[in-house]
Amino acid sequence: MADIHISVDKGRCIMSGNCTFVAADVFDQDDDGFVELLTSSVAAENAENVRDAARRCPGAAIVVD
Ligand code: SF4
Repeated sequence: MADIHISVDKGRCIMSGNCTFVAADVFDQDDDGFVELLTSSVAAENAENVRDAARRCPGAAIVVD
């Protein structure tokens, strides 16, 4: 299975922190609370928590493809 690619739009991030709870190995928050990516790709078989984070993001700031 191919890796999935993750990107974030900090301009849409409203600093809720949901993504860091759902997928702490992929998302972090910077000192101001904005999302920071720890990695831009994960193996497809480990992608469900990343997709879940994208669904739960209130700013629709996370794109998974
Ligand atoms: S869930 Fe969305 S709005 Fe909340 S910190 Fe993560 S990227 Fe930002």
